[in-house]
Amino acid sequence: MIDVLASNESPAHRMMRRLDELVKFSDEDGALTRLYLSKAHREAAKQFIAWCAEAGVDAKIDASGNVWGRYEGKAPGAPALMLGSHIDTVRNAGRYDGNLGALAALAVVEALAASGERLDHAVEIVAFGDEEGVRFPTTLTGSRALAGLFARAALDQKDADGVTMRDALVAFGCDPDGVGALRGRNIAAFVELHIEQGPVLEAENLAVGVVTAINGATRLHAKVVGLAGHSGAVPMGLRRDALTAAAEMMLLIEARARIEDDLVGTVGRVDVEPGAVNVIPGEVRFTVDIRAPRDEQRRRAVSDISKRLSAIAATRNVELTLTQTHEAGAYACHASVIAGLKDSVERVYGAPARLLPSGAGHDTMVMGQLCPAGMLFLRCKGGISHNPEESITTEDAEVGLTSLIDFTRHFQAGPKRAT
Ligand SMILES: [Zn+2]
Repeated sequence: MIDVLASNESPAHRMMRRLDELVKFSDEDGALTRLYLSKAHREAAKQFIAWCAEAGVDAKIDASGNVWGRYEGKAPGAPALMLGSHIDTVRNAGRYDGNLGALAALAVVEALAASGERLDHAVEIVAFGDEEGVRFPTTLTGSRALAGLFARAALDQKDADGVTMRDALVAFGCDPDGVGALRGRNIAAFVELHIEQGPVLEAENLAVGVVTAINGATRLHAKVVGLAGHSGAVPMGLRRDALTAAAEMMLLIEARARIEDDLVGTVGRVDVEPGAVNVIPGEVRFTVDIRAPRDEQRRRAVSDISKRLSAIAATRNVELTLTQTHEAGAYACHASVIAGLKDSVERVYGAPARLLPSGAGHDTMVMGQLCPAGMLFLRCKGGISHNPEESITTEDAEVGLTSLIDFTRHFQAGPKRAT
């Protein structure tokens, strides 16, 4: 009965219904938490495979826990356009991060299969098992496996309960020794539909945007040492206040990030010692996170900020130690994928496509090491993600899905690819 009713649904409505249904596969009652290789992940993967079967696609779980399926083109064995995203979540997650892109991939194939339409290329669907990296210390395990970048040492990493990834894979029904051989063959491109996780599209009243690059990031740890003293007894002119120095540094970081488009700088954590109402702060430690879509832009900003923080420290007679704790390069989405998505959005949406960088990391940046890759962003309410409040509209989902179907139909593998 449900199937009969469901058959009258539009593809976007069906996708939204499935997104709602997937919420029940959770490791926690009353919240959506679906960790890599958990029972809930297994059940969600099985449900995904069942939906693929409805579309006539024989999907399987691969050695690393990804669900993978293939819809052949006119000639069997043709190069494939791969579509997808991840179905693992953070703790107490929203229902759209990752799941949207996996179910959109399925919906694209369903749209083709409904009329028996075959293209010059195949379409592959993937629902990656681990993007968020919540359970084990590594992240992006699923796409790394497919891109041929999986490090075997990850199999020995343990979760909080002491279970190794190797044992978790075996319990999931996977073959840990097969993960290294998963590298995708004959994949012409990878495209991921994902919620924006930021407020830009909403602010500009746009349903979708085409991602140009996934930002690189530098993280620094700053330690400012002044001199603690009695808040009543030390005159202002004789102080070496570590917190007021750090405050000036934070404002400098903000001001420097503001002068360039797409550059962002954040101080997310501050520790103050001794942290008492009547003591001049003697030591402050804070984090700095700087991101940009171009590595050169980010390095220039980091270098500027480091010099100017040192100048503030010198003027205020405090000691500054800056340590880099993390660095990851940006991924520039492939020009051919950006151009193709832009054309599709303009055909479907009837307005110039908004191009924007992604501030968060995604499977796309890993798949981009294997083949040309790119992303389509969908507006999400308030830019909120990693939170049960995540929200999108069916109307926007329809624009995103229709654009992805259009892209798939117009996609050309091989020689026409731009470089
Ligand atoms: Zn995601």
